[in-house]
Amino acid sequence: MERTLILLKPDAIQKALIGEIISRFENKGFKIIGLKMIKISAELSKEHYSHLVSKPFYADLEKFITHHPVVAMVLEGNECVEVVRAMMGPTNSRKAAPGTIRGDLSLSTSRNIIHGSDSKETAENEIKRFFKPEELFEYKSCHMDYDYAPDE
Ligand code: UDP
Ligand code: MG
Repeated sequence: MERTLILLKPDAIQKALIGEIISRFENKGFKIIGLKMIKISAELSKEHYSHLVSKPFYADLEKFITHHPVVAMVLEGNECVEVVRAMMGPTNSRKAAPGTIRGDLSLSTSRNIIHGSDSKETAENEIKRFFKPEELFEYKSCHMDYDYAPDE
């Protein structure tokens, strides 16, 4: 089953939106298989945002993401990488449609509430970056109590 890495960024925590966002993923049918609050080091930030370290906004991004706690989460579900990206909306929250997490909860490009892996390959690497194997859990979820369609 496909997995993806989510970070609820400092602005989500400071705006008391952790429950709101987790509820959206639970209601959608995703299974939370890893969940913790952490402080990201500068080293981890540079690794996670390696595609952006040369950008003019990187210094602000690193300061923002390393100075406050974030919530890290691994979700599991059918096509969850793509579905979560759709639920998030695009990077610029002002361009994100109502109904998406960024569209409903932010007006910003830099303080845009959430990170979600952008491909299956990225997700595998990001999950390993943020979670030890023993921090991920297998369990029977309530979604398994009703009859799934074959594609689920
Ligand atoms: N970011 C920013 N300014 C920009 C572009 C990106 O501050 O012009 C930040 C923003 O927090 C974004 C993160 O860098 O979420 C990672 O950028 P990416 O292009 O990977 O966007 P995402 O995958 O988060 O939508
Ligand atoms: Mg990205």
